[in-house]
Order: sequence, then structure tokens, then C-alpha cells
Amino acid sequence: MPQLLIATENKGKIIELQALLAGLNLELLTPAGLGLALNVIEDGSTYAENAAKKARAYAAASGLTCLADDSGLEVEALGGAPGLYSARYSPKPGATDADRRAYLLENLREKPRPWLAHFHATVAIANSQGLLRFAEGNCYGQISPTERGSGGFGYDPLFLLTELGRTMAELTMIEKNRLSHRALAVQNAYKILQEIFV
Ligand code: IMP
Repeated sequence: MPQLLIATENKGKIIELQALLAGLNLELLTPAGLGLALNVIEDGSTYAENAAKKARAYAAASGLTCLADDSGLEVEALGGAPGLYSARYSPKPGATDADRRAYLLENLREKPRPWLAHFHATVAIANSQGLLRFAEGNCYGQISPTERGSGGFGYDPLFLLTELGRTMAELTMIEKNRLSHRALAVQNAYKILQEIFV
């Protein structure tokens, strides 16, 4: 069975990507499973640059075809912030996801609602022979003024899916994986993966 390394150490992303990629006839590997821990500096100016950096670094280290995700939350009232900096959005050293959510609410407090927002994901697929392909997905909603739900990770308890009236953290993983930015990006990557692994 062909192998694909999921090039991320973010546990939330790994769990979702494993489920999203399960329909392909691939053996899914993780950095932890291979004893690989790379410190990839995400200093690109786009999601695609950062995703490519991660996919290429893991491909070079493992010799495997790799899939990396670079994603973020873009809030209209904050001019698209935290965006590319979503994982580092807090002035507090050693900040947690909960600290970043609190900081987001603090920055939005004075802004009129609704606080429209979307999640973006760019997926990069790379190997050590120079292959590099991309797919993207977006998921639209708004920021909830209070946290709700315990599923998912990151900003999920604050991301309200307007039509469903539920936050991303109030969805089961199966539900999140039907509509999330990452799910759409992986869906758009399916064709590429099928081409690569025929
Ligand atoms: P990066 O792709 O490693 O730069 O990290 C993306 C960051 O965006 C994560 O650490 C989360 O803070 C946020 N993020 C991305 N996707 C999601 C999601 O599905 N739910 C909640 N937060 C997310």
C-alpha cells in the first residue's frame, strides 16, 4: 500500500486528517509514529508558502510523499487577523488555545457584531523529487461572544456556523469533517492524491 506522511504535529489536525484521508487506499503515517520531530519555521507570507515548507521539510527528512496543512482564522472586523498567525496569536509567552481565544474576544469586544469570520486551509502535497501541489478550502461563519462546546481544537469553541446555530466545537468530528475548511481542502486534494498514487 502506498504511504502518505501527515506532515504536522498538531494533534487536532492529525485526528481530522486521518479521518478525511481514510477513504484513499493509503497507509497514513505520522511524524510521531516515525520518531520524526522537525522544527519548521513558519515564516512564509502565505498559507501556501508555509504549507509547502512543512510538506517539503518532512518529505526531505522521510523520503515519503507528505501532506501538510497550513490554516488560520480570519476575522473581518480585525482586518483578517489572526490569519497566518492564528497559532501564535497571543502576547502571553507559552500561550494555550484558551489564551488565544480569550485574546481574540478581548480584541473584538468593542467591535459591532456580527463578527464575521472564516477559517482557511491550504493543503500542500510534496515529495523529495520536487513534486508540489496545493488545494484549498474555506469555511464561513462568525465569532461567538462566548465559548460553546468541547469538540475540535483551537478556535472551534468560538466559531459559530451561522446556519447551524452551533459552534465548530459543538459538532461531532464526522459533522466537522463534512464542512470544515480542512475537509474542503482535502476534498479538493483527493484528485491530486489519486493522480500521484495511481
Ligand atoms: P498552523 O497551520 O500550524 O499555522 O496553525 C493553524 C492555527 O489555526 C491552529 O493552531 C489553530 O489555532 C487555528 N486553526 C486552524 N484550523 C482550525 C480548526 O479547524 N479549528 C480551530 N482552530 C483552527
